[in-house]
Amino acid sequence: MAVPQNKISKSRRNNRRAHDALVAGNPNECDNCGELKRPHHVCAACGHYDNKEIVAVVDEVELDEDAA
Ligand SMILES: [Zn+2]
Repeated sequence: MAVPQNKISKSRRNNRRAHDALVAGNPNECDNCGELKRPHHVCAACGHYDNKEIVAVVDEVELDEDAA
């Protein structure tokens, strides 16, 4: 098994990780509701895509007593 010859210091490790942050990719405004959404994806807020309702959005879901 390969073993590192030298310990990587906290400073060097953290400097390497300084560029590892994830960035949110290029959101678009929804044509229907104006909410920011991922391009080429159904709007998470209103369920529209290409000005058509694709997914029906329910305001509140009532759970069964047994299910909760
Ligand atoms: Zn929308």
